Amino acid sequence: MADGKRKMVKCLVCGAVFEEGNEVCPVCGVGSENFVPYEEEEKNFRKDTEELYLILGNGAAGVSAAEAIRERNSTCSIVMVTKEDCLPYSRPMLTKSVMGKDEREELLLHDPAWYEERRILNLTGKRAEKIDTREKEVTFDDGIRLKYDKCIYALGSECFIPPIPGNEKEEVVAIRRLSDIEKINSLLSKSKRAVVIGGGVLGLEAAWELKRAGLSVAILEQGSQLMKRQLDEEAGEFLKGLILEKGIEVKFQAATREIEGEDRVSGVRLEDDTILPADLVVISAGVRANVSLAEDAGAKSGRAVIVNQHMETTVPGIYACGDCAEYEGINYAIWPQAVEMGKAAGANAAGERISYKTITAALTFNGMDTSLFAVGDPGKDPGKTYEIRREEDKDKKVLKAYYHESGKLVGAILIGDTSDMGRILEEIE
Ligand SMILES: Cc1cc2nc3c(=O)[nH]c(=O)nc-3n(C[C@H](O)[C@H](O)[C@H](O)COP(=O)(O)OP(=O)(O)OC[C@H]3O[C@@H](n4cnc5c(N)ncnc54)[C@H](O)[C@@H]3O)c2cc1C
Repeated sequence: MADGKRKMVKCLVCGAVFEEGNEVCPVCGVGSENFVPYEEEEKNFRKDTEELYLILGNGAAGVSAAEAIRERNSTCSIVMVTKEDCLPYSRPMLTKSVMGKDEREELLLHDPAWYEERRILNLTGKRAEKIDTREKEVTFDDGIRLKYDKCIYALGSECFIPPIPGNEKEEVVAIRRLSDIEKINSLLSKSKRAVVIGGGVLGLEAAWELKRAGLSVAILEQGSQLMKRQLDEEAGEFLKGLILEKGIEVKFQAATREIEGEDRVSGVRLEDDTILPADLVVISAGVRANVSLAEDAGAKSGRAVIVNQHMETTVPGIYACGDCAEYEGINYAIWPQAVEMGKAAGANAAGERISYKTITAALTFNGMDTSLFAVGDPGKDPGKTYEIRREEDKDKKVLKAYYHESGKLVGAILIGDTSDMGRILEEIE
């Protein structure tokens, strides 16, 4: 380019920003019709120091923080540590068309050269165990201790596993890491029937991937609706219809009593004594933020580690971001939020004073031969009065619902035709 600036685009679906030219989003895998031009903000702040920045966690938040620090400080040391055995990768892709495939390399966010150029040191296979705020050092499970001047706490979250008897069996998997998908892949050839516990978006994505891998699949949902957080009742029903058409069973009010089987999983027993035969069980029951290390170090937490607009925790020198951080009571635990919080944490740790701007909670689902987009508030606050506009075309398998409050669009659901999502997102934002 004439002015030397890279041409960037932003994925409207996951919020990732990357160089123009990709056919699909490297983070969430949607096509280029979902990209809009993105103007990178000028970063004028510079402060070169000899400080050591220790980043715990190498997910979206950790990597974004590392990049933000290096953009402002060219001489400091940046060390990023994870307990996983790989470089940062696209976690959202785990439930999007990687089942049955070995795609380790393809999922990486950046190749090793990217980190080398920026002198960001990646340490893998090390679990952080303790933060000593007096000595300003972190101890890892292999006994090593690393000093820091500033610490970025970006340990993300873990899958919540309900205390169902039998949940420790080998063929029971909750998908959070690459290793979970690799485990599922190793079980696929021995499996015919899968039960997915949880009817949220990740459960549905997993169910679709398992179906595409040739298994017969049942989804168990404890409540009375699919994707209850993001859809209204009508949209939930509509989606259920599309899923049933694909030959996937859906059971509501399905409380699991036990995952049965002697040597191997044989089925899932419900509270009403129904047994669903299964040789593979995927649990998708939400996530819990990794807060304990920060709490032990004295940081205040709610659902996650509490941060102010600069991503500072209540412990000086420790910043938190991503799935493990909570700002103004909100922790959506979605990719764009982790990225934006990571950028803000990195910038502030590097000495600039910027404020994190909350993002609009938007979600897409591409599976079951349909596409779905849900954003904002689809009428979930009983204290509010909404005006609702709904369009439905059963033949075309399209449903659209728009929620307005005091004349303003506050939420929308699109199923079957998501072409309008860019405009909707802009209007809501
Ligand atoms: C299957 C799946 C699909 C998803 N799909 C979408 C989607 O479509 N759209 C969307 O917006 N979001 C999606 N998400 C959510 C999104 O991936 C997360 O919000 C995002 O990855 C959070 O990034 P993070 O950096 O905060 O945490 P993480 O990505 O969880 O990174 C934290 C890192 O810290 C490491 N770690 C944890 N504890 C320790 C320790 N004690 N010591 C050392 N390392 C440790 C972890 O191993 C991990 O590498 C999905 C998540 C999953 C699991």
